Amino acid sequence: MQNPPDLRPDLSRARIQDSRREGQPTIGMVSLGCPKALVDSERILTRLRAEGYGISADYAGADAVIVNTCGFLDSAKAESLEAIGEALAENGKVIVTGCLGAEPDYITGVHPKVLAVTGPHQYEEVLDAVHGAVPPAPDPFIDLLPASGVSLTPRHYSYLKIAEGCNHKCKFCIIPDMRGRLVSRPAKAVLREAEKLVEAGVKELLVISQDTSAYGTDWKDRETKFPFLDLAKDLGSLGAWVRLHYVYPYPHVREVVPLMAEGKILPYLDIPFQHAHPDTLRRMARPAAAERTLDEIAAWRGICPDITLRSTFIVGYPGETEDEFQTLLDWMDEAQLDRVGCFQYENVAGARSNDLPDHVPEEVKQERWDRFMEKAQAISEAKLAAKVGQVMDVIVDDVDEDGIATCRTKADAPEIDGNLFIDEDAGDLQPGQIVRVEVDEAGEYDLWGRLA
Ligand code: SF4
Repeated sequence: MQNPPDLRPDLSRARIQDSRREGQPTIGMVSLGCPKALVDSERILTRLRAEGYGISADYAGADAVIVNTCGFLDSAKAESLEAIGEALAENGKVIVTGCLGAEPDYITGVHPKVLAVTGPHQYEEVLDAVHGAVPPAPDPFIDLLPASGVSLTPRHYSYLKIAEGCNHKCKFCIIPDMRGRLVSRPAKAVLREAEKLVEAGVKELLVISQDTSAYGTDWKDRETKFPFLDLAKDLGSLGAWVRLHYVYPYPHVREVVPLMAEGKILPYLDIPFQHAHPDTLRRMARPAAAERTLDEIAAWRGICPDITLRSTFIVGYPGETEDEFQTLLDWMDEAQLDRVGCFQYENVAGARSNDLPDHVPEEVKQERWDRFMEKAQAISEAKLAAKVGQVMDVIVDDVDEDGIATCRTKADAPEIDGNLFIDEDAGDLQPGQIVRVEVDEAGEYDLWGRLA
């Protein structure tokens, strides 16, 4: 399950400091959608860079523009079409790829002038389209590929995609139709990529896939039942912060939590619970719907009291009664999750939930969303207030010209969670540095502190 649109690291642009050599063909990239799509964009740019292309951060400097689209929600589709239109108007030569590329007629119906439309992970096809639009002109003495590949995220953290596709059939989701069944990358390839990233200076690895805890369960000849546990262990030995996203509350997740208690991987689980009422979860056809999630949460906290739990929820799912929604609110009181995102259910073309009876009126969805967020904010605020006075490690993301450092604690994933700001004596800090800080103030989502 993706983050809702307002929590996505949208519209990333290449952070590549290099100038264009004379005659160098140059490509621009607009990357929409979830972190998984961002990884695809990085792969495409890495290949183009290896072939001698320059990467432009604006339309004007690019000979052609790739738009990596998202097609998860109707609003994301509309946003993708808008981005394609903007790229056509500003540049003229546009190649479309990504999830919405699985529906080429939908795109060409609106934008007949796009040069090519390719679907998700069709790297070769994207490269062919680029070659056709802007032929390569490599210079082997100049075009050196950076050791870490091309990263769209700041150099000190990087997304690590460990699998593609999903074997579940959640009724509101069309990702399995667009991305296919689960295919896990070989552990050796994942580890090699992770090692290369760490060698190149990456301090934090963000592990992503559609269903991270299912990693490796698609291998027929696997030696262990849950290769996810071995992978977590191996990644935890690389000396970087390792953060797990999109984990489902299966019982075997308990076995990864001791690694968090030992400090091998970050004490952080991003678990898309989506709802708490068993009937709603069943109507959603969610994986692990039958698990007693409050018991699992208590078990994780028993093993690792400092664990941070982040989740996303859907309110106003078809058939959600006031009673079911109240169960979700009561569950939140018990679960006391640290970080929460919530979105109101909306139909997605092709999703099976569209045909469910008893769709919830818009004003009821809004009213439930307000009540849910009020509770979630109060919990987040109380949890952050309890951190005042604590001393903790934070990673520096950015230092501005006024010497204010924007950092994150172990409880904060980039782009989607909060920040810790240091506004005194922080001018000499560097992005990627991990420093000890005493927390002296807390807000609804963010913290403030000073160097300890
Ligand atoms: S687990 Fe469900 S929501 Fe997540 S990608 Fe698979 S089908 Fe979609």
